[in-house]
Amino acid sequence: QWIMGIETSCDETAVAIIKNGREIAANIVASQIESHKRFGGVVPEIASRHHVEQITIVLEEALKQAGIQYDDLTAIAVTEGPGLVGALLVGVNAAKAVAFAHGIPLVGVHHIAGHIYANRLIAELQFPLIALVVSGGHTELVYMKEHGHFEVIGETRDDAAGEAYDKVARTLNLPYPGGPHIDRLAQEGEATIPLPRAWLEEGSYDFSFSGLKSAVINTVHNAEQRGEKIKPQELAASFQESVIDVLVTKTIKAASEYKVKQVLLAGGVAANKGLRTALEDKFKEIPNCELIIPPLALCTDNAAMIGAAGSIMFEKGIQSTMALNANPGLDISIHN
Ligand code: ATP
Ligand code: MG
Ligand code: FE
Repeated sequence: QWIMGIETSCDETAVAIIKNGREIAANIVASQIESHKRFGGVVPEIASRHHVEQITIVLEEALKQAGIQYDDLTAIAVTEGPGLVGALLVGVNAAKAVAFAHGIPLVGVHHIAGHIYANRLIAELQFPLIALVVSGGHTELVYMKEHGHFEVIGETRDDAAGEAYDKVARTLNLPYPGGPHIDRLAQEGEATIPLPRAWLEEGSYDFSFSGLKSAVINTVHNAEQRGEKIKPQELAASFQESVIDVLVTKTIKAASEYKVKQVLLAGGVAANKGLRTALEDKFKEIPNCELIIPPLALCTDNAAMIGAAGSIMFEKGIQSTMALNANPGLDISIHN
């Protein structure tokens, strides 16, 4: 079984080929970060245009890397949403064109289902499980009782974790995307600055990061007014400790309440060294629950994860028609 994955939901033009559901035969990612950097974030119109320029090149490169041709493909999986509509449209239309021209089945994939299934490229999934999804646009705890079943048991009420990282980075004049820079600074400093943790109501698995983000911005501004300078390493370490404390505590609580066999980490912020280490340390003390963390390249946007999710969907008999369309607000819970 050869599944092609196509991902163009944001600022990465990515195509991958997955053999037998779990083996990466090709994984090409053309990043646009350099084009968006000077604007401090992703500019949707620029993103769409880059996808149009890159998609054919990336498709050919993936086939070449895998050493196969279009007619060898079993199915084509593509991100249908959520994401930027103009960006999604490029991937969806490329997938439809190839599927139609070569008579290959088409499978529409939810981007976050893809982030979660990146873990299946590392280990076989065992249910029930909980995925901690931390990315640029999402922060949620997803309960899965079987393949294709996604139940969001907690989510952010305001900013996503990645969004908070990027905004705090901007306050410290670090380049976009700021997450990796904050992560690096945090390793060099001590968490000496007291910052809030939003636990929310007793028993809630929801998150909130906007209060923390504001507290960081206020700390910087107040120091400036007093003519003092905050050490960026200390601020980064304090911010990161606050984020990780809440994420790890709620994940562990959910894992024990839902009696899961596995906990998966997913999304761009899963590349965070502090978060990875904190989860690994905590899970050493928890028997009968396996922690799975993908390698860095499978945490940020890629198409291997879309191929992995699409492979399972195809095996379950799920296919899309030629009416498949980009859906920027696609909901994961009604998606299987
Ligand atoms: P979504 O998946 O929710 O649609 P997205 O695809 O834009 O959003 P991802 O590509 O999954 O998001 O993740 C990008 C985010 O991950 C950015 O906010 C970036 O700053 C953050 N990120 C990447 N590496 C790290 C790191 N080491 N520490 C913290 N954040 C990081
Ligand atoms: Mg990106
Ligand atoms: Fe993503």
